Amino acid sequence: MRETEIVLNAAKGLYEEKLVAGTSGNISMRKFDGNNESFLITPSGFPYRLMTEEDIVEIDVNGIPKKPGQKPSSEWRMHLEVYKKYPNINAIVHTHSPFATGFAVNRQDIPLILIEMKPFLGGAIKVAPFKPAGSLELGQAIIPYLEKSNSCLLANHGTISCGKDMEEAYTASVYVEDAAKIYYYAKTSGNPVIIE
Ligand code: 13P
Ligand code: ZN
Repeated sequence: MRETEIVLNAAKGLYEEKLVAGTSGNISMRKFDGNNESFLITPSGFPYRLMTEEDIVEIDVNGIPKKPGQKPSSEWRMHLEVYKKYPNINAIVHTHSPFATGFAVNRQDIPLILIEMKPFLGGAIKVAPFKPAGSLELGQAIIPYLEKSNSCLLANHGTISCGKDMEEAYTASVYVEDAAKIYYYAKTSGNPVIIE
């Protein structure tokens, strides 16, 4: 599969699964071509419904698009900060998925409540401190939260999930929302028991 196709497929899949809505969220991957490090990222403010492979933006390490006129996601600094700090991360999914973002708004961690959270996420999902959307500070704030887990919540904003490839980052973002939904149901119907 072409690299732009991998990013587009993930974007369309997340849209169909309602983990991203409208133009919110963004997806990226590291591009391997010889010595030249670059990244593919979804365009800013672009409806997923209409997105094509040609709309995926290639940026350099400074966030400059290869094709002039293209507008990379406003969160490119956050994506690049993660790639810079974690060389084994090659794909990133950022969503505003509703159940997980509910907990992000409450600034409430999702503890280890499900067996799949350990293998697919690395454990509990913690909330990183609030920083303005699109800021470098947001990228810097989440770095410690991705040390033990591949995912965390962004206070009053959404989720971020990372992986060695797009498949891993995508699946993690699905499990973040799934864990949030189940935790929500467990909390509203009883007293959740934490595994750890
Ligand atoms: P972009 O459309 O610029 O990617 O922004 C969406 C978003 O989720 C901002 O945090
Ligand atoms: Zn966002």
